[in-house]
Amino acid sequence: MIEFDDVQKYYGDFHALKDINLKIEAGETVVLIGPSGSGKSTLIRTVNGLEPVQDGRLIVNGQDLANRKTDINRIRKNVGMVFQHFNLYANKTILENIMLAPRIVLKRDEAENKKFAMELLDRVGLADQAEKYPAQLSGGQQQRIAIARSLAMKPKCLLFDEPTSALDPEMIDDVLNVMKDIARDSNMTMLVVTHEMGFAREVADRVIFMADGQILEDDSSDTFFNGEPSNERARQFLGKII
Ligand code: ATP
Ligand code: MG
Repeated sequence: MIEFDDVQKYYGDFHALKDINLKIEAGETVVLIGPSGSGKSTLIRTVNGLEPVQDGRLIVNGQDLANRKTDINRIRKNVGMVFQHFNLYANKTILENIMLAPRIVLKRDEAENKKFAMELLDRVGLADQAEKYPAQLSGGQQQRIAIARSLAMKPKCLLFDEPTSALDPEMIDDVLNVMKDIARDSNMTMLVVTHEMGFAREVADRVIFMADGQILEDDSSDTFFNGEPSNERARQFLGKII
């Protein structure tokens, strides 16, 4: 459902993604790791068109994002994204944050929209916070709301860019547990940039290691953690973060 075929991405003259070939099947959970500046954020941002690619083919839900004629809004309906810094609407309540996109983009019926938003709030353990504003919640709570907000669109695919790296340690597990539930209980495709190797070991189907804009290793989670990555830099990196 996501397929990179010799994808090249440039920022001006800088070659940020080099010959990316990658296929992610529907329902798979893939963790993306690598040193700072290796292109992890760039790669996942190409999947919902936040970053255009310059060459190759990038097929998401059957449409080619490398083709200028592709309707990016149609892709974004099916591809949600959760950022490091939550990006909730500060002047809207939690419930409104979750109901907004389905109302505007999907024209979902108001009663049904509210019912589903409350179900999602319950699922992330925050049903009692519906009428509060983002600033009244902790970082971990805000991130769970951001996840609920993405789920409200019923996407086929969810992208996470270091969703726990801005959080205090005691809040990280609450967010990871919500992500684990989604990975296990839904058929959603998940592409997750994270250095939380416990999460990767537990729920990832595959682990991808990037450096210098290239994919150097693409292993099953089992091979990555219980065998050994064949790439030397991936081995060194793993040694440092575990
Ligand atoms: P980190 O772990 O620090 O988040 P990353 O792996 O996510 O790093 P990217 O943010 O994808 O790395 O950046 C990859 C490379 O592209 C870096 O060298 C970065 O400086 C460069 N880059 C990223 N965004 C831009 C931009 N908008 N314009 C120019 N160069 C950029
Ligand atoms: Mg990044």
